[in-house]
Amino acid sequence: MRRETTHIRSEGRKRFTIAHEFGHYILHRRIQDRFECGGDDIETGDGNERDIEAEADKFASTLLMPLDDFRKQVDGQPVNFDLLGHCAERYGVSLTAAALRWTEIAEKRAVLVASRDDHLLWSKSNQAAFKSGAYFATRKNTIELPQDALAHSNNLLDVGAQSHSTRAQAWFPREPASMPLTEMTMVAGQYDYSLTLLLMPDAEWQRPQHDDGEPEEDTFDRFIRNGQHPVR
Ligand SMILES: [Zn+2]
Repeated sequence: MRRETTHIRSEGRKRFTIAHEFGHYILHRRIQDRFECGGDDIETGDGNERDIEAEADKFASTLLMPLDDFRKQVDGQPVNFDLLGHCAERYGVSLTAAALRWTEIAEKRAVLVASRDDHLLWSKSNQAAFKSGAYFATRKNTIELPQDALAHSNNLLDVGAQSHSTRAQAWFPREPASMPLTEMTMVAGQYDYSLTLLLMPDAEWQRPQHDDGEPEEDTFDRFIRNGQHPVR
């Protein structure tokens, strides 16, 4: 546990870090007694591999931002950085943590991207986006921001939030040409990186598949579960 508190700037980061370490204690103390937690920020994996850092983050996120209450805050409201800022304040977490939580539960495809100096630091896709191929493998590759990205230095951005509608292909070349994308970016003085939230409608040509470890139940199973034993 070598997160150095001196490097943790905001109260929100501190709360998240404590909850993260608590998560290790609850979830992982039997498998490991030392944790090499990243000092920078929330860990963000690219894929779905088992990762105790991601698990501890998930624990912290769930503890600090209970789902029922979080949904009450955001349901039926257009997402923007004001709304996410409201959540960050309500739960005493960083804007990044609140934005990750929102991304996780978003109903449509959502991808959160952190960037600095025109390169991606990390990115997190929700399940729907991930399964449609809309994700960035930032652990394996150095990825440059698209030239048109609001957060790109080409498109000089004042401190604050901006958003626009563009084509999904600007970020994800494999998307159909007709696919729209809403992009919103926040550059704030207190952060040393930009946050960009990318929103896309569902990928109709590629319905999300189940990969939560449960095979698709077949009709027979469903009969059994409903108490309607099939007659043989
Ligand atoms: Zn950790």
